[in-house]
Amino acid sequence: MMSVVRHTSDVRCLVSDWKAARRKVGFVPTMGALHAGHARLITESLAECDRTVVSIFVNPLQFDRKDDLESYPRSDEADLALLEELGVHLVYQPREKDMYPEGFVTRVVQEGLTETLCGAARPGHFDGVLTVVLKLFNVVQPDLAWFGQKDYQQVQVIRRMVKDLNCPVEVRMSPIVREADGLALSSRNRLLTPEQRAAAPRIFKALQKCDVAFRSGQRNVDALRVQVARELEGLPEARIDYVEITDPRSLLPRRSDAAEGDLLAVAVYLGAVRLIDNLLLGRS
Ligand code: AMP
Repeated sequence: MMSVVRHTSDVRCLVSDWKAARRKVGFVPTMGALHAGHARLITESLAECDRTVVSIFVNPLQFDRKDDLESYPRSDEADLALLEELGVHLVYQPREKDMYPEGFVTRVVQEGLTETLCGAARPGHFDGVLTVVLKLFNVVQPDLAWFGQKDYQQVQVIRRMVKDLNCPVEVRMSPIVREADGLALSSRNRLLTPEQRAAAPRIFKALQKCDVAFRSGQRNVDALRVQVARELEGLPEARIDYVEITDPRSLLPRRSDAAEGDLLAVAVYLGAVRLIDNLLLGRS
């Protein structure tokens, strides 16, 4: 039976029983509007852990634009049906007023890894992510937690926090789940118009073309980035947020030459919808 709870005390109660029985607890934090990408993380947790907790919380703290928060898709009923079908043990759906009650003023702020890519493009975003993830870790106290490579920078930033703040949790990264046409699954995909949806697979195609050029010997970062930017500019209503090639650990942009395993990451608006994607050069 799947339990669905809204209060911290209910989560603690269930998890402490599991821990007393030496059950391994896995955790998958989400913002709902679930799809096969989320399901992949959950399936991995179910396979490796005795109990799996999924949280659904659209975290206002990590949105830098009000319209993005307001239009963020929500599908509670379908989400719960999917989680039940997958065999999840506990769903934690906190209310915003319980997560951030009046007087809430503490934030997790991280330097370094948050200063490039999505961190540079969305001020305050990762402070919001880290604050909510640390709160969720403190409530759930999982042994392992799963995050997706689709948000590659997010995984690195969370791993850094776990190390810096001695969080007793092991962080796992799952590969990007894609539609048959290559588009990375994202809750935001449902906001695309039919025309934008038809064009969106070209984002991953642009990354793949760049990877082919890299594998054929092109190492010049500017040439590789320009090639991707040209492809993206051709998309309907496209506005490029960034196209970057970075060191996969420091996330600092490469200045001249790209190396095998470097992160190629893009963020692009199609109309009002911001999509991200990435791959590791020479590795995918
Ligand atoms: P979100 O609900 O968008 O905050 O995502 C919750 C988790 O699912 C994050 O760790 C994401 O990186 C992960 N995720 C989202 N989309 C995908 C995808 N297409 N493939 C793999 N993981 C994903």
